[in-house]
Parts: sequence; structure tokens; C-alpha cells
Amino acid sequence: MKLYNTLSRKLEKFVPLNGNLVTIYTCGPTVYDYAHIGNFRTFCFEDLMRRYLKFRGFKVKQVMNLTDVDDKTIRKATEQGLGLDDYTERYIDAFMEDCRTLNLEPVEVYPRATRTIEDMIALVSTLLEKGHAYEKDGSVYFNISSLPTYGRLSGLDRREIRSGVSVDSDEYEKDDVRDFVLWKGKKEENEPAWESPFGEGRPGWHLECSVMSMKNLGETLDIHAGGEDLIFPHHENEIAQSEAATGKPFVRFWVHCKYLIVEGKKMSKSLGNFFTLRQLLEKGYDPMAIRYTLIAAHYRKQLNFTFDSLDNAGKAISRVESFYNAVNQTANREASSEDVTKLIQRYREQFTAAMDDDLNISGGLGALFEFIREINTNYPDSQVPQGNKKEVLAFLDELNTVIACFNFGEELADEEIMKLIDERNQARKDRDFSRADEIRDQLKGMGIVLEDTRDATRFKRLK
Ligand code: AMP
Ligand code: ZN
Repeated sequence: MKLYNTLSRKLEKFVPLNGNLVTIYTCGPTVYDYAHIGNFRTFCFEDLMRRYLKFRGFKVKQVMNLTDVDDKTIRKATEQGLGLDDYTERYIDAFMEDCRTLNLEPVEVYPRATRTIEDMIALVSTLLEKGHAYEKDGSVYFNISSLPTYGRLSGLDRREIRSGVSVDSDEYEKDDVRDFVLWKGKKEENEPAWESPFGEGRPGWHLECSVMSMKNLGETLDIHAGGEDLIFPHHENEIAQSEAATGKPFVRFWVHCKYLIVEGKKMSKSLGNFFTLRQLLEKGYDPMAIRYTLIAAHYRKQLNFTFDSLDNAGKAISRVESFYNAVNQTANREASSEDVTKLIQRYREQFTAAMDDDLNISGGLGALFEFIREINTNYPDSQVPQGNKKEVLAFLDELNTVIACFNFGEELADEEIMKLIDERNQARKDRDFSRADEIRDQLKGMGIVLEDTRDATRFKRLK
């Protein structure tokens, strides 16, 4: 399996450091607001990577931190007159709920920055002892000129680097290469602060991730992922802090997901194209269509999120689900055929080859749809031989452990069936018989047959 490593700017063969176990750190949400669909593009991509590694037989230990103290969370909590924990708690809960909605597999550890302060203080002390950091006006800064490799990840020109000039804010621009803050001395009276050997204060955002990753995964991790905006300064600074402290390589594979834009434009509140997941759900969009849209484009290409793409995702999902149900309900009486087994093998290989190539999901989904098309060409109405039914369904289930957008085998609720029946009756009134037949067939595929009587349409579920 190959992954593109931002550090080497090359596709590299991925092999974990320790046997079969893959250690992954993914920068989690800053819990100052509801996460937006751009954030979820990155989180869904990371989920796809995790699920695919498991599909390939690896064991995964993934850590996703919750940034519950930084410039943004403090500002918001103060604006609302709330304690930091009271403020962030509701967004942590909301985030977890959103993750479930999008079928993101829970990761192994979700550390919170505010619960890891002791370890952060220890790392700052180490950096001070080793001469990589200095104290100034009650804060502690990392001296970037003390580390010759600084700038390697983001490819900074060393000449631009202004060491000895320090920056306090958590986020800053690429041309502003300065000594960054590790520990911020307390300035305002009501600011959240912790005691430390360098005075009362709080950790810088970059420090938080170095500590939460190494604490849970060891000093060298296999994969560290996040959105492309994090390459500089966040990840560059994480490398600096970790490697200056341990003298070991911090991360073997840096994997970055490109940005999501909406209808061709950068998401922004002023353009009215800024959407949280919750806002899309309120508009009535299906969470699985959202997930599909977010994962279906390769992670190293910018994703242009459009409402058309959501509609198309919905259709793609129904095509796969209807196929599954049709196979499940209506096999032909033939004994099993070698041909079907061979097709499954061929398309499993095609799926795996695509995904092995830097998680080329478009190729992976292509394999699934070609498989369906080929079965339907060989077996009209998806009626595969009785003896192959199980393996076809198992293959679809297997691919769905990675794609995780399809709801197989779940029965339609009575109300949903009634809604379809009403729609069919309306179509018949409108003399749109092809739509009416389509609905009847769709239900039949799910094992639901309709009986038209003089005054109503009834339905029966087949066993
Ligand atoms: P934050 O909550 O701002 O720390 O961001 C959480 C994750 O979402 C990080 O990995 C960001 O890089 C990522 N992210 C933020 N905006 C976008 C976007 N528009 N498209 C893709 N990923 C994003
Ligand atoms: Zn981070």
C-alpha cells in the first residue's frame, strides 16, 4: 500500500513501524463551535484511511485530540461569560454526535488538552533544559534557530526565518516564520491558567498536539494526518517540539487532506455558503449522502461541494442498496456458478489495487459499480444463482466496511412504505406509469409486494 508523504513529497510504500499495528494521530476539532462540512471532509477522509487499513488486516490505534483550550475557545467562553469546561462541553457532545451521524468509527483515544497539562509542562521543561526554548515576559518560546531541520515539512526557505522574534498567537501566516509560543503566561485576570515552574499560564496549541500524540502513541508515530492548512505552522511546530525533545523522528508519514470548497468558492459566512453538518441535516439531506460526497473525491484534490453532488450521491447509494436487496430477495434456482466467484475475486482485486494506490477511492467505487453492472448484465434483475447469493452479499458487506455509506438489510419502516405508496398512486393519477412501476419494483427489491384493491393499496412483507 502506498501513501503520499508530505514530508518527502513522494508516494511511499506504507509499512508500520511495529509489526501489524498502525499508530495514527489526527488533529481533532477545536471545540468552540459546531464542526463544518470542511472539517468533516478531513475527518471522513481519516475515517476512510482507518477503515481501509483495517480492511487490509492492520490493527489501528488512532488518537484524535479535542482542542478544548486555545485562543478561540477562550475568546468564545469569555464572550458568553462561561467557564471553559462548561463552554466546550456542549461542542464536544455535539461533535461526538455528528461523528456518529456520519458513521465515523470511534477512534481508540480522544484526549482533551485540558486533561493533559502536566505532560505539557514536562515537555516545556525538557525543551528549556535542552536549550531549545527560552523564557520571556512570563511566556516560554521555542527557539527555531536551535533546530537546523526547522521548516522541512512546509519547505520554508531558511533565509526567511526570523529567530529571536517571537509570536504569541496560535495561528499565523506562512511568511511569518518566528519563534513560537510553548507556554503563554497569564495576562488577563479571568483567563484560564495553570500553575507551572515558568509561572501561571496555559499551553500553546502546537504543544498540545505534540504531547497528546507522544503520550498515547510513543515518540515515533506511523501516520499523522490533518487538513492541508495545518502543514504550517501547526505541524511544522509539532515536529520541532517533539524532535528537539526526543532526538527521534516524530512521524513517519505526514498525510494532508485538501480543502473543501462550496459551489466553487471558499466557505465563508459572508458568502452565505458556510455549512455545519447540522445545517445540512436541517435542510433534509441524508447523512449518508453527505458522507458519500465527502469521501468520494480523492483526498489530495480539492473537493468542490455542490448540492448537485449530494443528489447524485443519494442516487449512487440507492443503486447499491437496491442491488443488495434485489440479490437478497430474488435469486434464480441455478446451483452456484464459478463465474460469479471469479467476478468477486476480480473486483475485490480492482478495489484493493485502487485503494492501495494512495487511497484512490474513485477507483474503489468504480470497481463496485462495475461489479454491479456486470452482474446485472449476466443475470437480469440481479437474479444471481441461488448458490452464489451469500458470497455476493458478503462481498458488498465487505466493501461497506470501508465505504460505510450503505444501509444494507435494514427494513423500511411502515411510514416510509406508505409514503412510497402514496407517491405511486399520485404517479398513476398523473398517468406517469413508468414512475409508478419504478416504485413498485423498488419495493419488490426490498421484499415488499403491493396489492391494489378497489379502494386502497396494501402491502405485504415477504419472508
Ligand atoms: P479545527 O477545528 O479548525 O482545528 O479543524 C479541524 C480539522 O478540519 C483540521 O484537520 C483542519 O485542517 C480541517 N479543516 C478545516 N477547514 C477545512 C476545509 N475547508 N476543508 C477540509 N478540511 C478542513
Ligand atoms: Zn494538532
